Amino acid sequence: MTSCNSVFSEDMQPAVQSRSNEAGLADIPVRHERGQRAVFCGLTSIIWLHRKIQDAFFLVVGSRTCAHLIQSAAGVMIFAEPRFATAVLQDKDLAGIADCNDEIDRIVAQVLERRPNIKTFFLVSSCPSEVIKLDLANSVQRLARNYAGKVRFAEYSGSGIESTFTQGEDNCLKGLVPELPSTNTDEKNLLVVGTLADVVEDQFARLFTQLGITSYSFFPSRQLSEMPAVGANTRILLAQPYLGETVRALLARGAQLIAAPFPLGAEGTLEWLRAAATEWGVADSHFAGVTEVPYARAKRAIHHYENKLQDKRVSLLPDSQLEIPLARFLYRECGVQLLEIGVPFYDQQVLSAEMKYLPANAVITEGQSLDDQLDRVRHDKPDLTVCGLGIANPLEAEELRTKWSIEFMFTPIQGFDQAGDLAELFARPLNRQARLKV
Ligand code: SF4
Repeated sequence: MTSCNSVFSEDMQPAVQSRSNEAGLADIPVRHERGQRAVFCGLTSIIWLHRKIQDAFFLVVGSRTCAHLIQSAAGVMIFAEPRFATAVLQDKDLAGIADCNDEIDRIVAQVLERRPNIKTFFLVSSCPSEVIKLDLANSVQRLARNYAGKVRFAEYSGSGIESTFTQGEDNCLKGLVPELPSTNTDEKNLLVVGTLADVVEDQFARLFTQLGITSYSFFPSRQLSEMPAVGANTRILLAQPYLGETVRALLARGAQLIAAPFPLGAEGTLEWLRAAATEWGVADSHFAGVTEVPYARAKRAIHHYENKLQDKRVSLLPDSQLEIPLARFLYRECGVQLLEIGVPFYDQQVLSAEMKYLPANAVITEGQSLDDQLDRVRHDKPDLTVCGLGIANPLEAEELRTKWSIEFMFTPIQGFDQAGDLAELFARPLNRQARLKV
């Protein structure tokens, strides 16, 4: 799996720039770093996307390395007829594009024969040079003609050259936005954007209903055959912080973005819901009545881990793009000292509502220069480093405790009822270390 940790080298010149936080408090410096970076590629997002979207199939057009990545990341799911596969380009395919197209057509036909319930078929490109030469948009047009009225075809890039691992979802959803139907009423509707575990989606649906927000939908939905409508009366509430391109595509359709922190932790969830409630004009007393009990329950669940996390020193390395909301949760609700918050990229439009919750002296690094960053980690000796899998094992060997950032994608962590589980994810490696020392 670590073989697919994309490592790239860029211009090594770092720069420092200041950005004001939303509250107009002290500027939080955002350090820009360029150099080698180690992140998973966008193919990884297929794992949670295929679990979420139950009538879609994802065909990676790639190499054996891509197939290895996706099968390793999916774990036991390969035994359960997963809705993804890899069309491995062999040496003979390199002889001509026609061979590749024939191979794709053959695999698509094979999949659809076995899985007649598939309604949307994604072709996902990767970074081997023979794949880059292929025009998958053409393949999509050809397949759409062949299966007209039966299956929708779409393509996007999961290439490690173009995307970090959560950007795969952004590419996937952005490609679907032009196909969303237009709203046909004047009623304001809420569109929650970003993949959420079904259990979390159901909890939020109940809370929206209790708040009196009755017209809401989730994107992506469990069935892509039922795509949500979008228009000028749509208000976007982002559930994941890595969907900047999808947001901009939705804004171009006339929708408006509700500024809110992300629903991580008791406070994040409360403020996320409050932002929607304010947009819908929900009375404060009603909002308090709906959220009081689940908020208190979430606080109690977090409190359970407080003595494990209080005053611990934590560094977050750039990987999932969740780093800023996770850091805010650790700082505000767990009493953690933040040493460095690394993000693959800083998208102000999406993240600005988070910034006011961070301490004014927070150190945020955008991009990565791997060696420099590891030097800082070795120097700082954090109690916990949140990082990619490829970096975690070497750091563990140096007796530095780590948390794999990919776990925050594979575990339901959003919402009141998951706030304790989120704290537990951070506490677990510290707990293990404490037990080993006994
Ligand atoms: S897309 Fe590139 S980085 Fe990702 S698995 Fe394939 S070869 Fe590796």
